[in-house]
Amino acid sequence: MDTGEILAELLQVEVEIQDVQDQVNMLLEQQEKLYDRQSELKALLEACKGLGDPVTDGASSTVENWSGPFEWDSEADDIRFNVFGISAYRANQREIINSILSGRDVLVIMAAGGGKSLCYQLPAVLRDGVALVVSPLLSLIQDQVMGLTALGIPAYMLTSTTSKEEEKFIYRALEKGEGDLKILYVTPEKISKSKRFMSKLEKCHHAGRLSLIAVDEAHCCSQWGHDFRPDYKNLGILKTQFPNVPLVALTATATQKVQTDLMDMLHIPRCIKFVSTVNRPNLFYMVRQKSSVGKVVIDEIAEYIQESYSNNESGIVYCFSRKECEQIAKELRERGISADYYHADMDANAREKVHMRWSNNKLQVIVGTVAFGMGINKPDVRFVIHHSLSKSMETYYQESGRAGRDGLPSECLLYFRPGDVPRQSSMVFYENSGLQNLYDIARYCQSKRQCRRSAFFRHFAEPLQDCNGMCDNCAFSSDVKEVDVTRHAQLMVSLLQDVQENDQRMTMLQLIDKMKIKHKELGSELKREETEQLVIKLILDRILAHLNPTHEWCGTNRTVNGECQCLNSHPRTHKLMSWRASYH
Ligand code: ADP
Repeated sequence: MDTGEILAELLQVEVEIQDVQDQVNMLLEQQEKLYDRQSELKALLEACKGLGDPVTDGASSTVENWSGPFEWDSEADDIRFNVFGISAYRANQREIINSILSGRDVLVIMAAGGGKSLCYQLPAVLRDGVALVVSPLLSLIQDQVMGLTALGIPAYMLTSTTSKEEEKFIYRALEKGEGDLKILYVTPEKISKSKRFMSKLEKCHHAGRLSLIAVDEAHCCSQWGHDFRPDYKNLGILKTQFPNVPLVALTATATQKVQTDLMDMLHIPRCIKFVSTVNRPNLFYMVRQKSSVGKVVIDEIAEYIQESYSNNESGIVYCFSRKECEQIAKELRERGISADYYHADMDANAREKVHMRWSNNKLQVIVGTVAFGMGINKPDVRFVIHHSLSKSMETYYQESGRAGRDGLPSECLLYFRPGDVPRQSSMVFYENSGLQNLYDIARYCQSKRQCRRSAFFRHFAEPLQDCNGMCDNCAFSSDVKEVDVTRHAQLMVSLLQDVQENDQRMTMLQLIDKMKIKHKELGSELKREETEQLVIKLILDRILAHLNPTHEWCGTNRTVNGECQCLNSHPRTHKLMSWRASYH
């Protein structure tokens, strides 16, 4: 072959390679669409199971059967209106109340602000005897007891803060039926650790005075949920000890797996399940790119609050760490915003004080860690800002869901920086599906086109609903530019392979710094944030993998539980794949 022939064939081969490459791209695109459709169909299937037939024991009843008529209808209506001051039931409330009053065990999955409390409080008032409510947090219990007392309902709590006198009153009411006690709140530790309490409860039950049991925030039973509490594991004893007392488990979110798990833990396999939509139509979801300069982020947050909420409307800012909480609260104050922090390192009194000031609108913004949250019952929270991403879609749904429980328009704003992903990954690495959950929320943040709402529907296996322009991706025709980053991606992979071959490791920062130098060779330069986004994209596309927390990103063949966790390249596709990344 002479040089001319070689060159001609080389050209031919390169054209063919390009051809194959194009076909591979097409197939990958098709695969992507099929994955999307597959998850949609799975979601629909789950929803048909959940919504079409709320009775899980195979009986033929439907939702309508539980809407009535029942002999207690007029008494229930009277209590709803005259005691609770509520003029009409919301979706599923009537049916849930009726099934509890019919003596059935019930599982309620209802979005934050949907009105779960009424579902057990109304039957508690209507029925003779005492209703027991298990709730995970003191602050939540205090809120509820305060609210019920204001309505004239005799509600008490048995917690570490209960006075001796009140404890005596409660025990007498349980044991002897003396005094006026309708609803008793306890934390799960009381059930698992206090023999005295359980024996009084047994007496109450024996005398036929235990009217119902409610387990609030029931997802805490499941290790697959986002907020597992070990003491919740022991709540199965309630059904064993009091089999004929209706038990209602309530939560705002539970994936199919969590539902099955918690029904198992609470021993309510034949419960009636009511699943309401996760949709919060009044919440506007948005994600903003977070600057790597801390001060700039705070400036932006302060400006957002001052511009949009200048009338002292309530809000929450969620942060990653306790230290960050304090720092951000201070910096917001320096910018003229009335803000204070809340985290688990403070003593209970200080926390309570901050909570009260915020609840009474003396403080506009609470800057909190995840410790500030579950069951916070302020209905008029107008904005929830995430200074760092949450560890999962579920956690984000819960935290952002503290906005707008009164049904009025409210905003949920998340600041996302790819560098926050490895920070979180070390926290969730050893949790069940921890990394996968983190990647789901990272995908939510990275997306420049997909409706934010639809991400929630997918996650909770619910049929899609209209967003009505209530998220940034739906509302603004964003000026997204698409960039071919194939060569950048391949370079990253080869850089990692190089260090891997030398049995060395590389952190995300190091990889990005190296890329910066190499960019020049590529002739086109991505901005630093864009390179960071590409790393995350490659992780989400399973081209790279996280290493365990101590190494974060790695090029060595280290294993965790037998699985390779290094920042590795996918052997099958990375050479052929091409990547297009979307950037603002
Ligand atoms: P959840 O526990 O589901 O987050 P809550 O039980 O705290 O929600 O209820 C949220 C708010 O909605 C409360 O202020 C409650 O009084 C109110 N609420 C509940 N049911 C109704 C209803 N049917 N009509 C109007 N307001 C209601």
